[in-house]
Amino acid sequence: MYDVAIIGAGINGCSVAYELIKEGKRVILFDEEGIAGGGSGAAGAFISPKFSKSGELKEMINSAFTYSYDFYAKNFPNSFQQAQLVHIAKDEAEDETLRIYKKNTTLALLKMPDNMKTQLSENAKKREYVSIDAGIVNAQSVCNAMACGAKLVQEKVESLVYDDAFWIVNESYSAKHIVLATGAYDMLIPEPYIKLRGVWGHRIDVKTTTKNENSMHQFVSISPKQGGHLAIGATHNVHYHPQKNTEPYDIEQGRKELLQKASQTIILENVTVVKDYTGLRSGSFDYMPLVGPLVLSKETLFTCKNILHVKKPDFKEYMYYPNLSMINGSGGYGFVLAPYLAKTLTEHILHGKAISERISPARFFARWAKKL
Ligand SMILES: Cc1cc2nc3c(=O)[nH]c(=O)nc-3n(C[C@H](O)[C@H](O)[C@H](O)COP(=O)(O)OP(=O)(O)OC[C@H]3O[C@@H](n4cnc5c(N)ncnc54)[C@H](O)[C@@H]3O)c2cc1C
Repeated sequence: MYDVAIIGAGINGCSVAYELIKEGKRVILFDEEGIAGGGSGAAGAFISPKFSKSGELKEMINSAFTYSYDFYAKNFPNSFQQAQLVHIAKDEAEDETLRIYKKNTTLALLKMPDNMKTQLSENAKKREYVSIDAGIVNAQSVCNAMACGAKLVQEKVESLVYDDAFWIVNESYSAKHIVLATGAYDMLIPEPYIKLRGVWGHRIDVKTTTKNENSMHQFVSISPKQGGHLAIGATHNVHYHPQKNTEPYDIEQGRKELLQKASQTIILENVTVVKDYTGLRSGSFDYMPLVGPLVLSKETLFTCKNILHVKKPDFKEYMYYPNLSMINGSGGYGFVLAPYLAKTLTEHILHGKAISERISPARFFARWAKKL
């Protein structure tokens, strides 16, 4: 019998496992693909803030950035690389955004390194940029290290049954709590108010004679050179979506697009693609992550009719699945948000600490129920 069963061994599931194991809990971790076999294994895993003018998502990601940078550097130094990041505007509108960002940020701003200036394309040289101290994690290695101490079961979870104060997983394993960390895959408990969108991503490792010591973000993300290779990746503007396309993903076309976009930032010479990684990342419809207990929609609709249409709903009045939470929807910032959100969720599971309504899945129930 386990204290917590976590479904999904991406960065979210592994971060929660790490926090719980640290607290002495017995954790069982399920993933049909093994550790970091989903979106997490495809990620460039840059640890960077969000360079926008304002907004609650920017505030949350920026707090998570500072937290996660220190977290990885301190706890997983072998999977973390400090690297100066140069974020370059894509167009005039973003030039303006970056100017405002630079005026307001509390992060220490750095100058573009001299050696980088000579590698930039003519287009990139004209644009505004922000440069800061940032990092990159090795996705596979950090997930493995975090999950160490959990019992790993490589199988698809198909049944979850609550019986006599325990959750029974696949009719074989029992645990007091369940954490759903299933990314952009089908929700195991299909509640109609939870809708996640999967965005396809492609990363390539390339061999090149171009020298680069920094992380660069513009149309795609480009890593510093490690072992003779650069990683180039993106999860936007690629030409494929597994839920919409019937044809298989065209790897050659994806490579071409990534290289074309990277060449708009940096002069790439003698390039050979050595490895491809693809995967889906999941995002919510208001872009904020989903962390916390799941509302039982049918039961809440049936018993709490009078509270559904109030102006300011009180989430405490809803009915919830017993001892079951989710952590998902962190979009393109999964590696930045995961340690920060996993701490929040663990404090909730172990000590009943309240979770902000802005990330609670209950917010989507409230919106969905209002429309009924
Ligand atoms: C190309 C690319 C580049 C990216 N770059 C960055 C970046 O630079 N920085 C950053 O912070 N983020 C980045 N991201 C986003 C980041 O990867 C995601 O936000 C993050 O990986 C989400 O993690 P997760 O644990 O929620 O999901 P996943 O990693 O997808 O994990 C979910 C897991 O659940 C398992 N699963 C689902 N259902 C079941 C079931 N029923 N039974 C058993 N197992 C199940 C799946 O096999 C999967 O392994 C990038 C993403 C991509 C695709």
